[in-house]
Amino acid sequence: MAITNKYVKSVLADLKKRYPEQKEFLQAATEVLDSLQPVVEARPELQKAAILERITEPERTIMFRVSWVDDKGKVQVNRGYRVQFNSAIGPYKGGLRLHPSVNLSILKFLGFEQIFKNSLTTLPIGGGKGGSDFDPKGKSDGEVMRFCQSFMTELEKHIGPDTDVPAGDIGTGGREIGYMFGQYKRLRNEFTGVLTGKAIGSGGSLARTEATGYGLCYFVDEMLKHNKSTFKGKKVVISGSGNVAIYACQKATQLGAKVIAMSDSNGYIEDDNGIDYKVMQQIKEVKRDRVETYLKYVKGAKYTEGSRGIWTIPCDIALPCATQNEIDEESAKILVKNKCFAVGEGANMPSTLEAIAVFQKAGVLFAPAKAANAGGVATSALEMCQNSARLSWTFEEVDTKLHNIMIEIYKEASSAAEKYGMKGNLLAGANIAGFEKVANAMLWQGICY
Ligand code: NDP
Repeated sequence: MAITNKYVKSVLADLKKRYPEQKEFLQAATEVLDSLQPVVEARPELQKAAILERITEPERTIMFRVSWVDDKGKVQVNRGYRVQFNSAIGPYKGGLRLHPSVNLSILKFLGFEQIFKNSLTTLPIGGGKGGSDFDPKGKSDGEVMRFCQSFMTELEKHIGPDTDVPAGDIGTGGREIGYMFGQYKRLRNEFTGVLTGKAIGSGGSLARTEATGYGLCYFVDEMLKHNKSTFKGKKVVISGSGNVAIYACQKATQLGAKVIAMSDSNGYIEDDNGIDYKVMQQIKEVKRDRVETYLKYVKGAKYTEGSRGIWTIPCDIALPCATQNEIDEESAKILVKNKCFAVGEGANMPSTLEAIAVFQKAGVLFAPAKAANAGGVATSALEMCQNSARLSWTFEEVDTKLHNIMIEIYKEASSAAEKYGMKGNLLAGANIAGFEKVANAMLWQGICY
C-alpha cells in the first residue's frame, strides 16, 4: 500500500529526520504505519491524542557499559541496552539478544514489533527488548557467566516481575538466562519470575523451549486450513537452526511435512529424506556446533557454503527462522518462481519490505512475524502466570493453551483485516489488531503515557 494519509506521512517523515541512521527501526515503523492508514482515517481521536507519535517513541531507553574479565585475565567491555517501549497493557516484555550486530536501531525495531505482538497474544504484556553486542559464540562457559553476571548487575535496577520481564532471543538460551537469573536473585535476595525461559525446576514452564517453533507451525497450519490446504506432503525449507528453527522442524514434520533444508550463518544442509530434527537438536543444543556437522551423522545429506542460497531450493512452504531481512526481493522472486505458495515468518522481520511486496503481488499466503512467532512470548506470559500462582502446568496443558492462543491470533488478524477492507491480508490485520488494543489503553490512561 502506498502511504497517502497526511498524518501517517508526517509521523514517518519526523521519524526519518530524527533517526536517519536507525534503518531497521524505520523499516519496522514504515511497515506498521502503512497498514494503520485506514484505522487513523476511521478514528480521528487517535491523531488528536498523538497516538502514532507516542507509540513510535520508547517510554524509556537504557544504555550501559558491561565490563567483564575473559579467560586470559583481560578486561573486555561491551554495550548493554534495554528499550522499554510501551507499558500501556502490561509490564514490558521481550527478549535479550546477544549478538555482535546489536545496536539501538535493531533493538528499537524489535521492541516496537514486540508491542503489537504481545498485544495480539491476548495476554496483559507490554513491549520491550534488550541485549548486548557481546557474542557468546566461541566463548567458554566461564566467560559467558561473567558477562551475564555483569550485564545483570546493571539491568537489575530497571526490571522486576511487575515492571519488565526479559526473556531469551538470538544468543540468549537457557544457559544465559540461568546465569542472569542467578545474579538477579543474588542481588535482590528474592526468587521471583523476573525472567522467562527459566529451567524446569527453577520456575521455568514446560513447552517454553518449543513454543515459538510450535506456535509458528500452529499458526501456519491454521492459515493453510483456511485456504483449503495442510502441511501434509509439503516440502518445507527452514532457515536457521536455533531455538525457533529446531522446533518448527519438529512440529512441521509431526504435521506431515518434509523439512528438506536448514541453515546457520555459514551455510545450509539439504536432506531429501527430511531433516532429522533430533540430530539437529543434538548438534545445536548439546554440542553447540555448526550445521555442516550434520553430514557426519546422516548419510546422503548435502552441505553448501553461504546462507542466502537456501531460498533457491524449490519448496512449497518457506519458514524463515534465522534473522531480520534474510529474504530480500531477489530471494522472494526465486521462491515465487519455484512455486512456493506459503511463507511463515518465525524470525522477526525476516522479509524486507520489497520481498513482502513480491509475495503479496504473487498471492503467496503470508504469515507475518508479529502473529506467527508470538507463541514464544505467549508461553512466556504463561510462565509468568505459573510463577505468580506458584504452580506448574503439564507439557500438554501448556501446549494446548499455546495452540488455542495461536488459533485466536489468526482469528484476530484475519477479522481485523476484513473489518478494514483488506480480507486475507494477515500482515495488515495483525498490525491493526495489535495496535488498536494498545491505542485504546493509551487513550484511556491519558496523555502522560
Ligand atoms: P538462536 O540464537 O537460537 O538461533 C539463531 C539461528 O539463526 C542460528 O542458527 C544462527 O546461526 C542463525 N542466524 C543468525 N544470523 C544469521 C544470518 N545472518 N544468516 C543466516 N543464519 C543466521 O535464535 P532464536 O532461534 O531464538 O531466534 C531466531 C529468530 O526468531 C530471531 O529473529 C528472534 O528474534 C526470533 N524470535 C525468537 C523467539 C524465541 O522464543 N527464541 C521468539 C520470537 C521471535 P549461527 O549459529 O551461525 O549464528
